[in-house]
Amino acid sequence: MNKVCKCGHDVNHPMVIHESEYSKWGWFLFTILGLSAKPKSVKFICTNCKELIEETSDSAILKKYIGR
Ligand SMILES: [Zn+2]
Repeated sequence: MNKVCKCGHDVNHPMVIHESEYSKWGWFLFTILGLSAKPKSVKFICTNCKELIEETSDSAILKKYIGR
């Protein structure tokens, strides 16, 4: 991944946050039952310019964001 926002931040930059999207079922497990559900996609957003840098549904990457 070498995508950057207009500030030049990539997804590993501390200014870049991730936002996990859950399916309805995953959201239920995660929010109501407190279980770790795998997100259906993860978005990486720069907190400085609010630009969406990357959105992925790659399961290898999603695994890292279980419960986050
Ligand atoms: Zn930025």
